[in-house]
Amino acid sequence: MNLRDIGEFGFIDRMARGSVVKPERVIKAIGDDAAAYRIPAGEVALLTTDLLIERIHFLRKATSGYNLGYKSLAVNLSDIAAMGAAAHHAFVSIGIPDDCRVEFLDDVYRGMKELAAEHEVNILGGDTTGSKTDLVINIAVAGFAPKNELMSRSGAKNGDAICLTGTVGDSRAGLHFIMNNIKPQTAENQRLVQAHLLPKPYLHEGRFLASTGAVHAAIDVSDGLSSDLGHILKESHAGARIYADKIPVSPPLHSFCERVAKDPVEFALAGGEDYVLACTVDAKKAESLAIQYERKFGERLYITGADTDSAGIELIYASGESKKIAQTGWDHFA
Ligand code: ADP
Ligand code: MG
Repeated sequence: MNLRDIGEFGFIDRMARGSVVKPERVIKAIGDDAAAYRIPAGEVALLTTDLLIERIHFLRKATSGYNLGYKSLAVNLSDIAAMGAAAHHAFVSIGIPDDCRVEFLDDVYRGMKELAAEHEVNILGGDTTGSKTDLVINIAVAGFAPKNELMSRSGAKNGDAICLTGTVGDSRAGLHFIMNNIKPQTAENQRLVQAHLLPKPYLHEGRFLASTGAVHAAIDVSDGLSSDLGHILKESHAGARIYADKIPVSPPLHSFCERVAKDPVEFALAGGEDYVLACTVDAKKAESLAIQYERKFGERLYITGADTDSAGIELIYASGESKKIAQTGWDHFA
């Protein structure tokens, strides 16, 4: 089916179905000139937005609509998670080229709505327009957090423990399969591709970390650990020491790096799009926080390094050797 067959308003009606999953604070949803919602007393409102452009961020022919919709929302939810907030509403603007079929768009919204429902996020509006050749998706997400529980990139202190909510590097390895058109045959390789296509937003985890008061700074790892940790250090005027043997590398990534003769530690540091949270935690509270975290989420909070008062990031090997690492990550204009 072509968009021409249902028209702009037919399309809006179609994707508006099931867009409100948590109506409590919603005053106006899709269908008016603007959305309206209540802000909980004592909380601050957060707003984040991410733009995805075909051929820059994704290849329409190489992705399913479902995965595209899911990931477009996931990367926004991840930004809200990194601030320690809860996500409540999403706004989806889409520029659609002529050759994009309604079935594909249905699939985009299915991926988006499944993830939205999982996290009780409403889709409250957006915009729909034509595009000459490329599919363009912009999502904005509104969230809330108690005003004294916001996490940010600044605030890391000398001596803080550097923690990660998950393994890093998997997504970059998954991308290798996609870009080289290699079908992942084993369950291990499928996990890598999965990490790239369907990243988990750490919303509950971010909210929990923020509520403990033990976290001094946080960020989500979108460009690569060395690069994103670099943002915390820059904003906090701090340095860091990372322990090579403490960097969480998944078993599938270990096998992958062995096969392609890459150092898993360097691969994990430079990888991107992991969307795990990196945070710096009061050193005295880090061990007990990690225990609490594991009890609550059944997953580990990895203590990977420590903040220092020297500049840059130093990688320390188990042998005692160390080296300065370059803060390489994805830069659109580099
Ligand atoms: P306007 O002309 O005032 O911008 P539209 O006709 O573009 O209104 O939109 C009508 C309603 O549909 C609005 O509530 C708008 O937020 C919503 N909407 C339009 N496109 C999308 C979309 N792609 N996703 C979600 N909501 C949308
Ligand atoms: Mg409009």
